[in-house]
Amino acid sequence: MKQSSAFIPTLKDSPADAEVASHRLLVRAGFMRRVASGIYELLPLGARVVRNIERIVREEMNAAGAQEVILPIMQPRELWEESGRWSKYGPEMMRLKDRADRDFGLGPTHEEVITDLVRSNVSSWRDLPLNLYQIGDKFRDEMRPRFGLLRGREFIMKDGYSFDRDEEGMRRSYQAMYDAYGRIFTRSGCTWRAVEADTGLIGGDVSHEFMVPAAVGEDDIAYCEGCDYAANVTLATFKRAEPLRGEGKAAEKVHTPEKRTIEEVSSFLGLGPDRFIKCLMFLVEDKPVAVLVPGDREANETKLERVLGTDEFRLFIEDDWKRFPSYLQGFVGPVGLQAAEVIADVALAGAGGMVCGANEEDYHLAGVDEGRDFTAGRFEDITSAREGDVCPRCSGTLRIEAGIEVGQVFQLGLKYSEPMRCYYDDEDGVSRPMVMGTYGIGVTRLMSAIIEQHHDERGMLWPLAVAPALLHILPLNYEREERRSAARELYERCQERGWEVLLDDREESAGVKFADADLIGIPYRAVVGKGYDEDGTIELQVRTTGEKNKMDMDSLMGLLQQAVDTLADERPHVS
Ligand code: ATP
Ligand code: MG
Repeated sequence: MKQSSAFIPTLKDSPADAEVASHRLLVRAGFMRRVASGIYELLPLGARVVRNIERIVREEMNAAGAQEVILPIMQPRELWEESGRWSKYGPEMMRLKDRADRDFGLGPTHEEVITDLVRSNVSSWRDLPLNLYQIGDKFRDEMRPRFGLLRGREFIMKDGYSFDRDEEGMRRSYQAMYDAYGRIFTRSGCTWRAVEADTGLIGGDVSHEFMVPAAVGEDDIAYCEGCDYAANVTLATFKRAEPLRGEGKAAEKVHTPEKRTIEEVSSFLGLGPDRFIKCLMFLVEDKPVAVLVPGDREANETKLERVLGTDEFRLFIEDDWKRFPSYLQGFVGPVGLQAAEVIADVALAGAGGMVCGANEEDYHLAGVDEGRDFTAGRFEDITSAREGDVCPRCSGTLRIEAGIEVGQVFQLGLKYSEPMRCYYDDEDGVSRPMVMGTYGIGVTRLMSAIIEQHHDERGMLWPLAVAPALLHILPLNYEREERRSAARELYERCQERGWEVLLDDREESAGVKFADADLIGIPYRAVVGKGYDEDGTIELQVRTTGEKNKMDMDSLMGLLQQAVDTLADERPHVS
């Protein structure tokens, strides 16, 4: 690729809407452009990175026994009705009608289509297990598209689906995908962590997310310092400390005029927030439910959804307070409370000497003991783990870090095969539902995640395996004939070996060339400048470390060949 003719529209300034480094740098370095909110074009350099990631994904998927297919983006409503997701997916699914007024959805994921394909074409145990994947465009009308490719509305995903005879087979397929994912992210140059995850709209029982730790990550991960426990904070659990105890005195009413929040009452009474019981009112399937958590903790809505067994719930809003005037906003407490259900966090079982709302304007109750003064219908794990909590497995210390979810794997079980009647005839002649798994990687999100982990103030620092090119050739003062012909010779030699290289054949100043090269972030750089005039040497620079070494062209080719060989060693060896 020659820079004078390549389509690399770099920019001096960052786009106004770019809040994170990867978004800023991809636009500034001419890798991508925005078409509409959450919808982007990938220009030649961006497309190369995506193709490199896809190549790694393909190699690992194929080596793990998965077969590539290409599925339609446009999918008929009928299939989505069968799984029940036509209504469940809600506004996140992009929908359209054809000329005959038939409904279609643009695939946010492809469980329905693939299950239909397999049920119609696979009927014998002899054809299982089967693992199919594709790499293609997905559409999700996200509530808040942002951070460039990290949360787009149209994006590239690798999605795969496994079909097995039984649970054990499904677990084997799952493990094979889990292992392949680890290799994919390592080969892409990321540090990553696999964490226990919630199954959300996709469904199923067991799931892991692959997280790339990065400050801009929208997920919080709890992980243990002492063992390999790691889980998304939406479901991470932790060992509760021994409950606080009271002094055995009767509960007493205290006047707390105008003090409604935990902070206000806590500083008014001079008691730590852990002494308080937060009583949150939720409307659950149209009924009032009280949720009790320690005053220094937050209720975790994902955990609540599991405990409630429905996603139809919300924290009381103004209308609900009006509709149920017996609950006094700011003074609700569990003592004598009437509600459809009272659910408390496990930390409150046996707690004593606590403070809570008195269900009376301007009053709280102090010295309240669970068991004596109130109890809950259920004690459940409904609060979020936080930094410093105790690991549920080994009693080590939990840490919290932000991460970008680049992939997720799910054990689906019969979630789709049962309602969609994806059955096979088993060896014993009995017809059984196939046991499924589903596996996704956000290819374009991964590209951004890589940048979040690999950039500096001057630009991107591409890991070799996914870089848009191996080498950036920078002849300084290109008008000088000897330098120009040396640069061209190097360019041609690289091309003969099939390497991607970028030759900066523009008649720009050294400053401009270096600044653009830093921004684009190709791992190796060959500077053909003064050294070449003096003794025929070229300076090989490493973008990540800033390391510089002078050498002749043959040695340079030798070094690059070594780098290419090392990379090739990482590829799976398929027999
Ligand atoms: P999120 O929680 O971030 O919305 P998700 O859990 O809904 O993602 P999955 O259904 O698990 O996503 O999709 C598989 C992968 O696709 C994700 O792990 C992620 O890498 C990628 N992905 C999902 N949504 C987007 C998006 N809006 N833009 C880019 N990549 C996405
Ligand atoms: Mg996910």
